[in-house]
Amino acid sequence: MSSSGAQLIARALHELGVRVIFGLVGIPVVQIAEEAIALGIRFIAFRNEQAASYAATAYGYLTGRPGVCLVVGGPGVLHAMAGIGNSSANAFPLLILAGSSETHLVTKGAFQELDAISLLSPHTKIAVRSSLDSIPQTITNAYRTSWYGRGGTGFVDLPADVIQGQGDHISTQIVPAAPRAAADPAKIKVIAGLLKSAKAPLVVVGKGAAYAQAESSIRKLINLTKIPFLPTPMGKGVLPDSHSSNTASARSTALKGADVVIVLGARLNWILHFGEEPKWNANAKIIQVDISAEELGKNNGNAELAVIGDINVVTEQLLTALQGWQYDTSSAYVQALKASTVKNEATAAKSAKVDKIPMTYGRTFDVIKQTLHKLSPPEDGGIVYVSEGANTMDLSRSVFPVEHPRLRLDAGTYATMGVGLGYAIAAHCAYNLPSPEASSGPKSSHKKIVCLEGDSAFGFSLPEVETMARYGMDVLIFVVNNGGVYHGDSSDSDAWLRLQQNSKQGLKGGLRSTSLGWEVGYEKVAEMCGGIGYLVRTPEELARATEEGYKATVPVVINIIIEAGQAKKLEFAWQNSSKKPKKEA
Ligand code: ADP
Repeated sequence: MSSSGAQLIARALHELGVRVIFGLVGIPVVQIAEEAIALGIRFIAFRNEQAASYAATAYGYLTGRPGVCLVVGGPGVLHAMAGIGNSSANAFPLLILAGSSETHLVTKGAFQELDAISLLSPHTKIAVRSSLDSIPQTITNAYRTSWYGRGGTGFVDLPADVIQGQGDHISTQIVPAAPRAAADPAKIKVIAGLLKSAKAPLVVVGKGAAYAQAESSIRKLINLTKIPFLPTPMGKGVLPDSHSSNTASARSTALKGADVVIVLGARLNWILHFGEEPKWNANAKIIQVDISAEELGKNNGNAELAVIGDINVVTEQLLTALQGWQYDTSSAYVQALKASTVKNEATAAKSAKVDKIPMTYGRTFDVIKQTLHKLSPPEDGGIVYVSEGANTMDLSRSVFPVEHPRLRLDAGTYATMGVGLGYAIAAHCAYNLPSPEASSGPKSSHKKIVCLEGDSAFGFSLPEVETMARYGMDVLIFVVNNGGVYHGDSSDSDAWLRLQQNSKQGLKGGLRSTSLGWEVGYEKVAEMCGGIGYLVRTPEELARATEEGYKATVPVVINIIIEAGQAKKLEFAWQNSSKKPKKEA
């Protein structure tokens, strides 16, 4: 019996094990979504393809399988390109399916016509157009290619005549998880020797380790060897933040002092200061373990010690080669790390107690943390944090401890602002929808998704609060509102109004490029669609709203008016703190 192209596409996805599709429908893809729903796949309909594509990338990261996004052609593809860039930059697996105009109308100026294959080929791992006969094989190969090796995007272009045509069902090939590669045993021996003779060894744990679900082998490695470790922002939780070998509070000392460093699932990019001076010791031996051969030696120019292989396998190989060796933690390096930790944590504790209104970032995060921890202790792993906004993300990172992997999402490698609400929806789907794809994280019947959003970051995807409300997602969103990008613009409404007046009259001293509206009522976004909104200014109001918001069963937006003009200056230098190439004499 023949079926429509839309039915064949939905069936191929179902046979691949896809249980959630993120997207935004229109002609000609609406039939695909409807057929998918008929097969029991959940279709999460967004307000903009950008947020839908971001959600699919995060879903890929959290579940360890490609996230799927369905969009229309032309403008739909252009909006979804944001997610394609995000997938490539973060190495998250993403499958994008997009409609396109009828094959016989190509080049005639058809409805939403776009040569998506030419556009996307340089930005994806595979970009193919499907015919009616090749539906299962094109979808399967795009799915597999986005997933195997380093994660990235697979793209399938689906012309309207393919979606609307009639064809026979051909069974889809099952795609098992990728085979795992082991390291060269000779290399492992050398590395074990280096570790044993190191004075200041360090293990850096990146989000690649979280994505690889390598927590049990990495926990074993650190517990048995006592080597200090440093998580990257999304590598937090692979080992518990409370672990005694965690050097996160002494980050600079850890990097600068280390002499042998094993990097598990992290690139030596801007997040790790390129593995170079001045942040790192120039003589440090850096051993990268990565699934991607191209990555090795990219920035420190030395792949001699690098290892190609799967983190799970390589970590076990290393443990065997170390034969029960343990690092002597009475070393000068560990003493320096402890001293630095005490100093840095004391500074943080001081900033958490600053008692003024409008509140500071430090106080704001402290009130939220204290309240949430009473409701859900970190060891239970009941909260997923999603964090974005320059200061909000940077300053909250060290405040909220995570004890289990994949419980913290942020703007990531691309420093993409605007991912937060899409990521929150993805986290809700990954953890709270019954699905065979759901992450094998710690046991918890329902996870609360908590977004920490700067007011600027929140603005990028604000209508997705309605998406959350429509699907009954009880996401708790804090909007840390200082009336601007970065540090906000002024410290009181009179001054802000004066600036706005000047701006209207074209006078100097008007609104800056970083200015946003003063005390905008962001909480109303929740109220307009059946959620709950709170506007808070004091620690007491914030604590009450946090508790009520945590217990709510609908999306909640807590709009927190904080002090403007606060936090770090606009600085770009640290992000690119690499040594400059020397000029020839
Ligand atoms: P972070 O942002 O935490 O520093 P990155 O995204 O820069 O992390 O790096 C993650 C790295 O992990 C990528 O280079 C990716 O190729 C690698 N990776 C992903 N999965 C595995 C795996 N199973 N084994 C080894 N490396 C992996």
